[in-house]
Amino acid sequence: MMGDQILEGTGKDSAKRVISVRDLYKIYRIGENKVYALNGVSFDIRRGEFVAIVGTSGSGKSTLLNMLAGLEPPTKGSIEIAGKRIDKMNERQLVAFRRNNIGFIFQSYNLLNTMNGLENVAMPLMFRGVPKAKREKIAEKYMKLMSVLDQAKHMPNQMSGGQQQRIGIARAMVVDPKIIFADEPTGNLDSHTSMDVLELMQKLVHEQQKTLVMVTHDDHLASFADRQIRIVDGKIVSIESRKDYGAESSEGEGNDKQQ
Ligand code: ADP
Repeated sequence: MMGDQILEGTGKDSAKRVISVRDLYKIYRIGENKVYALNGVSFDIRRGEFVAIVGTSGSGKSTLLNMLAGLEPPTKGSIEIAGKRIDKMNERQLVAFRRNNIGFIFQSYNLLNTMNGLENVAMPLMFRGVPKAKREKIAEKYMKLMSVLDQAKHMPNQMSGGQQQRIGIARAMVVDPKIIFADEPTGNLDSHTSMDVLELMQKLVHEQQKTLVMVTHDDHLASFADRQIRIVDGKIVSIESRKDYGAESSEGEGNDKQQ
């Protein structure tokens, strides 16, 4: 049945496809035992989509995200991202691939305490050799989009958790990555702040036509995504679209669960 969720063929849908996973397995050996952390997973993600990978603890979410980000090799199966087979890349190629295509949002924000908000957001551009005035201008644009421009001169320890995470999201966006991976991005925030942050992420993804893949155990947070890929014991058990998620985008698929 999961084949229904794969965007087969050429044309419009395959052009939009930014992530393609086929028959992905991750098997850990512990002594005599094998743990199937991923047990034959296949799905596609389109450009401009916000997808949540949802499951309880131990279901295989982090394993899947680590594989999509090229941080761990699969046991078997293929992962194509932006037209490139990342399962076939070596470490050096993966590092370059991540730098050029991927942004990360961490649960623990990972801001540098010795830099103010603006400097934290602009930092990835500094590594790319963008001149100061230009990188500050770009950083300000994303801080404004995340409603934290007023935190530009504040140090992380002068900000709330929600503000720090919005700074973290602006920092992930600043290099204009094709894809953003977020692992429990609101895990350290209260539920009200989590919803604020997710609404902003949702808006940003749609306005900027970014692809956001978020891992979470929380059904309510997952409901902010355009589609939810639910995994249990390393297998996909359902892929559901949000009810108001564009009719145009489901046309190549037409088999989402609620239809
Ligand atoms: P989740 O992120 O959904 O909590 P994980 O992807 O971390 O789940 O883990 C999926 C399964 O794989 C679990 O049974 C876990 O114990 C196992 N697992 C994860 N990483 C390893 C590892 N390095 N060695 C052995 N087993 C692992």
